[in-house]
Amino acid sequence: MTDNSSIDAARSPSGDPYLLTPGPLTTSLSVKQAMLHDYGSRDATFIDLNARILERLVAIVNGAGSHVSVPLQGSGTFVVEAMIGVFVPADGKLLILINGAYGQRIAKICDYYRRSYLVHESSEDVPVDTALLDATLAADTGISHVVVVHCETTSGILNPIKEVSQIVARHQRSLLIDSMSAFGALPLDASEIEFDAVVASSNKCLEGAPGMGFCVARARALEKTEGNSPSLVLDLYEQWRAMQKNRQWRFTPPTHVLLAFDQALSEFEAEGGVAGRGGRYRANCDLLVSGMRAMGFTTLLPDELQAPIIITFHMPANPEFDFNAFYDGLKAQGYVIYPGKLTVADSFRMGCIGRLDQQHMLGALDAVRNMLDQFGIDKISATCESPAA
Ligand SMILES: *Cc1c(COP(=O)(O)O)cnc(C)c1O
Repeated sequence: MTDNSSIDAARSPSGDPYLLTPGPLTTSLSVKQAMLHDYGSRDATFIDLNARILERLVAIVNGAGSHVSVPLQGSGTFVVEAMIGVFVPADGKLLILINGAYGQRIAKICDYYRRSYLVHESSEDVPVDTALLDATLAADTGISHVVVVHCETTSGILNPIKEVSQIVARHQRSLLIDSMSAFGALPLDASEIEFDAVVASSNKCLEGAPGMGFCVARARALEKTEGNSPSLVLDLYEQWRAMQKNRQWRFTPPTHVLLAFDQALSEFEAEGGVAGRGGRYRANCDLLVSGMRAMGFTTLLPDELQAPIIITFHMPANPEFDFNAFYDGLKAQGYVIYPGKLTVADSFRMGCIGRLDQQHMLGALDAVRNMLDQFGIDKISATCESPAA
């Protein structure tokens, strides 16, 4: 970093650039400070803290009495893999609804685990196809489970999980949900949306430190999964049973991550839970989208399909626009964005989750304006549109 670029760069209270990304995300100073302790895994304070976290995760989906939560070390994908391995038995068959890279990853997990599966794939800018789901479940009685990604972070699209859950329930199959980038910000009420398991992680919309995931499962469904897991460390059933017995993790717990997570959950509750957190992200998203559109950028998704999590913008076609310089220039001003991951269009992404508010969105928009000025671009005039559908 040059001296010049650091002079008026925006910085978080810990001195870092802000992360407008799909994760890891900006966390509050108090969440980071909560990690300044060393706990032993058998420490009573630490054990109580674990119990408190697990109870609060169940409360977020309104699942007290019917659902339980099980934590797991690792990034989000570890717990996605765990959910597939534990819930889909060797003689089961999984229908994977795909409209992005995270759905694709689930198919890859099934390949590793040699689970049989069927794929329904829609384009990255189109929600999963519920009519096709209905017809397929009616026609193929061998399908035991369906998995859907709540918000596909590849594009930022919101999938119709309520409709999906109603169809799956009507056909009496089991629904698994990857709600990694939505849990805590978008409503997921177990009394309205029937599911057997949902997975998410500590660092996305719950704004803890990265390093652990969790599964909130219907106890009745989890009870039936004994012996299913092809993996020892990812066996959520065994983790659940072990924690019921002695309230401890089976293997070294990520104590610092849990300390941060407990603090993050308190901040989540103080903000008003899902409504408060989702409301802040929605305001962030609206501000960012309208400010970017005013400069001529266009979004991949129409507003009604856009989840307030991460926004995909088409890559400008202006010859003066240089994405690498744009990325570096924004970072030097204190805002880290994210390259696109789409196959349908050349794009980049800007996230609006994490410990960010409207002031940070305005700061990021100023930084974008500065870069366009540097490129000599008054307004983005054309973008690299998707190939004709
Ligand atoms: C972030 C994310 C994951 C997990 O990714 P990791 O890099 O393993 O943390 C899984 N699914 C979705 C939809 C995500 O957004």
